[in-house]
Amino acid sequence: MSDCLFCKMVSGEIQPDTVYEDDDVLAFRDINAQAPTHVLVVPKRHISTINDLNSDDAELVGKMYLAAKQVAADDGIAEDGFRTVMNCNAGAGQSVFHIHLHVLGGRRMQWPPG
Ligand code: AMP
Ligand code: ZN
Repeated sequence: MSDCLFCKMVSGEIQPDTVYEDDDVLAFRDINAQAPTHVLVVPKRHISTINDLNSDDAELVGKMYLAAKQVAADDGIAEDGFRTVMNCNAGAGQSVFHIHLHVLGGRRMQWPPG
């Protein structure tokens, strides 16, 4: 997807503040952080929304959560607690249409989210 912001990060055309990378996922700090830790975990393969996932993607989504766990541990927020969020479509606040898991922590989280 040549016009996708997160695909450009995966390809290296745009260089984010990367905190974790493996063969399948990339994780980088959100440019508009909503918490002391705010990292986005993205699959290297373009998938637009949760609605576009299929059963072949199950392992990949699991790897996104394992990356989130690693990011939280590395940032020292794993024990206190952190939140993972994946917005789906505009009504839920999705603004970049390449799935991404928000990893938020380092402050008290409220419930329910807005
Ligand atoms: P969402 O609104 O759930 O689609 O999340 C998209 C996130 O991408 C937002 O939290 C933005 O702040 C973040 N974002 C947008 N552009 C960049 C960028 N160039 N580098 C890092 N994060 C970005
Ligand atoms: Zn993409």
